[in-house]
Amino acid sequence: MPFQDLPARLAEVRQRIEAARSRGGRGQSVTIVAVTKTYGAEAPLAAFAAGVKDVGENKVQEAVTKMHDVSAPLRWHLIGHLQRNKVKQLDGFHLVHSIDSPRLADAVASFGVGRKMDVDVLLQANVSGEGTKGGYEPASLEGEAERILQLQGLCVRGVMTMAPFGANEVVLRRVFAGARAAADVLKRAGHPAVELSMGMSGDYEVAVEEGATLVRLGTVLFGARAG
Ligand SMILES: *Cc1c(COP(=O)(O)O)cnc(C)c1O
Repeated sequence: MPFQDLPARLAEVRQRIEAARSRGGRGQSVTIVAVTKTYGAEAPLAAFAAGVKDVGENKVQEAVTKMHDVSAPLRWHLIGHLQRNKVKQLDGFHLVHSIDSPRLADAVASFGVGRKMDVDVLLQANVSGEGTKGGYEPASLEGEAERILQLQGLCVRGVMTMAPFGANEVVLRRVFAGARAAADVLKRAGHPAVELSMGMSGDYEVAVEEGATLVRLGTVLFGARAG
């Protein structure tokens, strides 16, 4: 059976999340998004069998293929960069974490208007300032929050961020607290920005202490990815 140690891994992760939640004292609930990228349909199936309801993929086409192969009632999250010409493939996604530019926000809003619905999204904030990471500069979010409020077809549910890989705890806390501040900016502008998608296998405990409501976990659940 593939991923046969997933239930045990999940149990340990859940315990660690609970401990971090009580250390952080923010009282938020935390949802695990099991990141199944690079694995076949057996990964989301194993996650569902183990009690996970949310799965994440970083490429839209790979996600759509798996959605078609897996009939379990999972919520599919898009967590990677989305090209504007692929926005029309967003049917069936529960939440798009990776709105990283005004032009992409506009394209997703048009898609939503065409579907007569609001697409639930997070704005990706580049808090660390790393050039290799996409997303909004925190300083640009106030203006963008005002602008997006005028758009139909899009609902901003919060902020996503990625910390620098292998960063020390001081840097992690600065990045995650910066994402929390970014969500506060969105809330003040009037968005229902209660979600904070932050924390991956290497840093989710600190992220939860800092208020994460969604943690995106791949390796710690499924083992190292090939390639
Ligand atoms: C792959 C990926 C993850 C999961 O990474 P792990 O370190 O394996 O937990 C989380 N977020 C994004 C955006 C990813 O692309």
